Amino acid sequence: MARLYEVDRHDLARLLHGQPSYRVRQVWDGLYRRALRPSEMTDLPSSLRLRLGEELGLSLAEERRRSSADGQTVKWLWRLPDGAVVESVLMHYRRRSSVCVSSQAGCAMRCAFCATGQAGFTRHLSAGEIVEQVLAAIREARPRRLSNVVFMGMGEPLANFEAVWRAVRRLHADVGISARHITLSTVGIVPGIVRLTAEPLPVGLAVSLHAANDALRDRIVPVNRRYPLGLLADACRRYVDGSGRRLSLEWALIDQVNDSPEDARQLAQFATPLRAHVNLIPLNPTPGYGAPGSPPAVVSAFAAQLRRLAVNATVRVTRGADIDAACGQLAGMSSATP
Ligand code: SAH
Repeated sequence: MARLYEVDRHDLARLLHGQPSYRVRQVWDGLYRRALRPSEMTDLPSSLRLRLGEELGLSLAEERRRSSADGQTVKWLWRLPDGAVVESVLMHYRRRSSVCVSSQAGCAMRCAFCATGQAGFTRHLSAGEIVEQVLAAIREARPRRLSNVVFMGMGEPLANFEAVWRAVRRLHADVGISARHITLSTVGIVPGIVRLTAEPLPVGLAVSLHAANDALRDRIVPVNRRYPLGLLADACRRYVDGSGRRLSLEWALIDQVNDSPEDARQLAQFATPLRAHVNLIPLNPTPGYGAPGSPPAVVSAFAAQLRRLAVNATVRVTRGADIDAACGQLAGMSSATP
């Protein structure tokens, strides 16, 4: 059976052979613009609806869904056709919603403090598997509008560039979520940032920095040994200049690891020439990492020092911690077991 969101327009035209020519567009818009499943496309003849439903299956089976106590955060555990599992997180704000999607089952980057990294890599997701996460979120968010997509779930998006970029193009062109409302978050894969710079769609870029000296970053973000800070800064500069987009730097504050005044100074030195915005978040605890997040007073002092150094910094509120849906806590099966 073909997968509903893997099918391109040509495949669909073949499936709809013998139907009036407007059908391709009708079904395509139904799938992407209106986020309908074939069985819900009541503007199609019922026999066709039935046939499409039989011939085109979904890729994501809902293994588990949890909502935070305040109802504002929903986390799914999805099972893929080959048994791999991924998570996505939907966050509601006052008038809109935002979804955090996975780009890989697991992750090979091995960041010390990240639950996904601790569990290791399973496989890349396909473009259809990424797009399907977004469409599930659009359906769930109703009547709110899903305005933003962030690639901050499981996996390293720039290590799965082809599929991620196909998904971005489909979200932008067919689903109608403009590239400006799509953010790729990367651990700092320099060749991926270089490729991104050559693409025409100006997606947002977030770099998970967490340390602004190579000795510390080598330890907590091991990919830094391959792409050290100097190379990363050069690639970021070219992206910012080429896309006109603002760069964000992510910094999880880890108690007595990267939360000192000297760390803030080094971060400011990295951020200033890039005119980057800094997002601070106290580290969320994960099973495989001993250090806790920085205490609130240290978080505020760190943010205040950055602002004194003329760096734009926002302290992020952790969402979904009670359902293990917070940053760095997505771990597939291990967080699915009660
Ligand atoms: N691989 C990509 C995207 C996935 S991680 C990346 O590295 O950016 C999404 C964000 O959560 C990253 O900034 C990551 O560093 C951060 N993160 C990972 N573990 C965390 C934790 N335990 N607490 C807070 N943030 C964490």
